[in-house]
Amino acid sequence: MIKNYLIVAYYLYTPVEDPHEEVRKHHAFLGARDVRSRIYISHEGINGEFSALREDAEAYMEWLKSDPHFAAVDFKVDEWHEHVMPRLTIKFRKQLVALDVSPDMSLGGTHVSAEEWRQMLQQRDEDTVLIDVRNDYESKVGHFEGAILPQLESFRQFPEYAAELKEKCDPKKTKVMMYCTGGIRCEIYSALLKENGFEQVYQLSGGVIRYGQDVGGEHWHGKLFVFDDRLSVPVGPEEQSEVISCCKYCSASTDSYYNCANMDCNELFLLCPSCAEKMRGCCSEECRCAERLRPFDPNIRPKPFKKWYHYT
Ligand SMILES: [Zn+2]
Ligand SMILES: [Zn+2]
Repeated sequence: MIKNYLIVAYYLYTPVEDPHEEVRKHHAFLGARDVRSRIYISHEGINGEFSALREDAEAYMEWLKSDPHFAAVDFKVDEWHEHVMPRLTIKFRKQLVALDVSPDMSLGGTHVSAEEWRQMLQQRDEDTVLIDVRNDYESKVGHFEGAILPQLESFRQFPEYAAELKEKCDPKKTKVMMYCTGGIRCEIYSALLKENGFEQVYQLSGGVIRYGQDVGGEHWHGKLFVFDDRLSVPVGPEEQSEVISCCKYCSASTDSYYNCANMDCNELFLLCPSCAEKMRGCCSEECRCAERLRPFDPNIRPKPFKKWYHYT
C-alpha cells in the first residue's frame, strides 16, 4: 500500500486571545482541503490530530507555524495509506484536556527527550516511580516495562490518584517519571503532582509516539493505543511488536479493540477474530440480540469511532 497520507499529532499550550476566530480560520484553511481531523482550540492553546495527503498536511503545518503564536508547535508525523478519522472536526473547547481541577501550568515537570528517557529507564533506582498517565484500556495493550498502571477509566480520576500516590511515597524523596501518548496529559499531571509537593517530576517529551520514532521499542511492551481508526500502532519496528493483551472470551492473544456492535452499549473491549465472528462484534449475548446493531463484516477492520449514522 502506498503510504501517501500523513497522520499528524500535535499540541501547544499558548494563550489564544480569540479561540472562536481561530476555529474559523482553521475551517477556512482546512475546509478547502481533503483533511480529516479532531482539532480543539481553547484560550489555553491547541490540541489536534489529523490525516491528510502529504501535500495538504505539509501546507497546514507550514501555515500554522507561520503564525507567531503557534511557531513553537511540535508535530509528530506518521505515514499511512488512508484517512484515520471520519470527518473534519475543528471545535472550541473550554479546556484542552478535560479535568475538574486546573493546576498552575507554569509549575510543570522537566521535559525529557526520548533518548534521555531511555537512559533514565535503565538507571532507575528504588526511589523512582514510573507512572502511566493513561486510561486502563490504553495501558492494557501496551506500556513501559515496570510502569505503574493506575487502572483508571478516565483522566478525570487522575487528580484523586495524585493524593493516593502522596500517601504511598515521600514526595520529597521520590523521583516521578510519567508518560502518556503524545505528551499533553503529562503537561497537566506534572503540574498537579508539583502542586501536591512532588519535587522531582519528569515527563516524556512528545510522549510514546515520539519515543517510538526516536528510540524504537526498547523497554516498551505491546502496542500503543491511539484515538483514531488505527486504534493501536507498534512502537518502533512493527516486526518486533508483541501482543500482551487477550480476548475477552477465549483468552487468545489479541490487541484488536472493538466497540460493542450494539450501539446502545458501545463498550470497548478486546476480541480475537474467531470470537468476533461468533459474537458478531458484540460484548455479550444480550447485546447480540439488541435492536441497533452495527453490521458486522469479518473482513473489515473495526472502526469504533464511527457513529451510528454512518450505517443508516
Ligand atoms: Zn477469542
Ligand atoms: Zn455490549
